[in-house]
Amino acid sequence: MRWSFPIGRLLGSELRIHGTFFLLLIWIGGAAFMAGGPNAAIYNIVYVLALFACVVAHEYGHALMARRFGIRTPDITLLPIGGLARLERMPEKPGREILVALAGPAVNVVIFAVLWLIVGVSPEPPLSDGLSFASLPAQIATLNLILALFNMIPAFPMDGGRVLRAFLSFFMKRVTATRVAALTGQAVAVLGGAYGLWTGQFILVLIAVFIFMGARAESSDVQLRASIEGRTARDAMIEDYVVLRPGDGPEVALQSLTGAAQSVGVVKDFATGKVVGVVTRDALRENPGAERVADIMSRKVAGVPVTAPLGKVLQAVGRDRIVLAVTPQGDVAGVVTPESAGAVIQGAQGR
Ligand SMILES: [Zn+2]
Repeated sequence: MRWSFPIGRLLGSELRIHGTFFLLLIWIGGAAFMAGGPNAAIYNIVYVLALFACVVAHEYGHALMARRFGIRTPDITLLPIGGLARLERMPEKPGREILVALAGPAVNVVIFAVLWLIVGVSPEPPLSDGLSFASLPAQIATLNLILALFNMIPAFPMDGGRVLRAFLSFFMKRVTATRVAALTGQAVAVLGGAYGLWTGQFILVLIAVFIFMGARAESSDVQLRASIEGRTARDAMIEDYVVLRPGDGPEVALQSLTGAAQSVGVVKDFATGKVVGVVTRDALRENPGAERVADIMSRKVAGVPVTAPLGKVLQAVGRDRIVLAVTPQGDVAGVVTPESAGAVIQGAQGR
């Protein structure tokens, strides 16, 4: 994610902080300072830091449970609106998805229980007038209770939405379950938003909009996955790709690419029979002064097996833009570009 930077590794995941998080701290500290002086500023900053520590603990709940099922979490990013644990993938078995989704709120319940039962605090309404360090543990206890309850709202992108989807997919197909869960979430969002408008609590309206959009994103993501299921690199590749030689002049290369089905040429060393690079029509146009294709081409060539599932191919295309589909014998069967992959997705969704 842009504008976020790492602050260290913890329990196998990189912990990152989004730059705007500091803006939030400065803003909250500044506002509190203006209203109540330096003590209020420190109290508020400590409060926000404690809140985000609890959010991080929540995300680690997801990450550590996912690890039990062999799923890594490369990084956890702290945003001003909350935490984001980027799991390699979501477990598709409903039982496991429920456990991973519940593990986050469970951490907040545990923090709450510890503060309540062991430290002996009684929960207080959030940010009541009693701004003091003495009331901080009670405030944090309340905060964790709110975090747990808020995340269990049965709507994407909240954890409760995942629990609902996983529960439904015991009885129906995952795509259908996702659609039902998304619709439920949108209904909750509309009701919550209307209530917020009615009572003038605009933060509720904002959260409702956020949930409404999240539900739609999750639904279309799962639909996309379902629509490309069973498809492979073979479906997305262009077979009549243009072959160039490293020593070709850019003009000759450009000529053979003009009017070709695609804008990418595969550069092959005919002496060894090996692919040594790829070059795009745009790169050729932008470097009219170059002498040979070899000077312009990109030497980093990514390859996937022709039988690779389309989901994997899309990831590779997202990373490297141009990907070669390679046969088991090592021959280039075709070239996959963002355009050729996009056409397959459009075709699949059009049906
Ligand atoms: Zn969560």
